[in-house]
Amino acid sequence: MVMITDIIIIGGGVIGCSTAYNLAKLGAQRVVLLERGDLCSGGTAKSCAIVRTHYSIESNLIHAVESLKIFASFADMVGGDVGFHRTGYLIVGPETHRQPMEAVFRKQREHGIDTAVLTPAEARKIHPLLNVDDVGVIGYDSFTGYADPYLTTTTYARRAKELGVRVYTDTAVTGLALHDDHKTVHTHQGDFAAPVIIMAVGPWTYQLGCMIGVDFPYENSRHKVITLKIAEPYRLDWPIVKDLTTPTKIYFRPETGGVVLLGTGDHGDPIEDPDSLRDEIDDAHIEHMAALIAHRMPPFAEADITAGWTGPYDITPDWNPIVGEVPGYKGLYVAVGFSGHGFKLAPTMGEGLAQTVLGQEPRVPMAPYAMSRFVEGKPLYGSYGIGSIS
Ligand SMILES: Cc1cc2nc3c(=O)[nH]c(=O)nc-3n(C[C@H](O)[C@H](O)[C@H](O)COP(=O)(O)OP(=O)(O)OC[C@H]3O[C@@H](n4cnc5c(N)ncnc54)[C@H](O)[C@@H]3O)c2cc1C
Repeated sequence: MVMITDIIIIGGGVIGCSTAYNLAKLGAQRVVLLERGDLCSGGTAKSCAIVRTHYSIESNLIHAVESLKIFASFADMVGGDVGFHRTGYLIVGPETHRQPMEAVFRKQREHGIDTAVLTPAEARKIHPLLNVDDVGVIGYDSFTGYADPYLTTTTYARRAKELGVRVYTDTAVTGLALHDDHKTVHTHQGDFAAPVIIMAVGPWTYQLGCMIGVDFPYENSRHKVITLKIAEPYRLDWPIVKDLTTPTKIYFRPETGGVVLLGTGDHGDPIEDPDSLRDEIDDAHIEHMAALIAHRMPPFAEADITAGWTGPYDITPDWNPIVGEVPGYKGLYVAVGFSGHGFKLAPTMGEGLAQTVLGQEPRVPMAPYAMSRFVEGKPLYGSYGIGSIS
């Protein structure tokens, strides 16, 4: 038995579910989403889910600004609660970053985001635990926040289902047979066929690529998050902090229960197989991070580590996603390589991809994310160099 459909989405992370919802909202019929495990069981489940707009690449900034509007008004614009908390965002850097940072602030302001360069005293008013004695430049925007990655993904999926999308969990794709007008997807639960397939399997794209002989230009790495708690209260409305003075570009944000999430914006440890990830975090990493956080927030010299986990980044050569039709494969689309910053972009990446698939003009820029940019010499490099803030 083959189930005949119009569009098959593979992958039930935040990108696949946002795309499914947007397709259905735009009127697409007979859309099916196939997820090998539960919804939100891949990289999205491990996300710190920070939703900021500080990007030096303008197309990223536009996606981030338009996506932030959706996160902040999710109930009205999509339907449902995704736990969005607005905290603001402090970004500290060496003096050499002043020019690029100020250029980003100007661009953010042009797009309606409230930004300012702060003095150390002003920064400490917003975040009293912060030591900014050694930083060259401090920027702030008041719009940034974070959401709940599980709620965001499952709410998109629920809304997609309400609009007619059929979602199959525990349905791993095991093979793909491609022809221009029809494509067959083999799964453990039977076969599905459609003229259009969208691959949104993030770090697992390599496996699907092997099924069709396409080598997608990205690599996987392992990223670690640790959570810390100090005796004194850590307020939920203190801003998220990005520290560009540190070699690993650390970031931290408040979480419920007075806990602080601490992660890095560097490359992480290369891994072959995302299924090999385990949540153990080595002592060397903990010691390294403990020293950095104690420097930036001195009361954290006495912090307890309450938890830690690891998650995969799917990193492209320019640290920006590949979203669009696979060159040479009519009707086959991919969304991969979100390089550790895809959560915040998911609302409009899903929307833009849905519009592209349906032959409509995307509301947000999608052309910069074509896979062909790497062979055409048009990579998307930002002014902070390689990294998830670009
Ligand atoms: C530690 C960490 C912190 C992060 N912090 C942030 C942040 O603060 N802000 C931000 O914007 N981004 C952040 N990110 C990045 C962001 O979370 C990801 O870019 C985003 O969640 C990727 O979503 P996705 O849907 O592409 O992939 P995934 O969530 O990995 O979804 C892919 C899905 O495909 C499924 N799948 C795989 N193979 C198959 C198959 N054969 N058949 C069917 N289904 C299959 C998987 O089970 C999975 O559910 C972070 C990532 C990590 C790891």
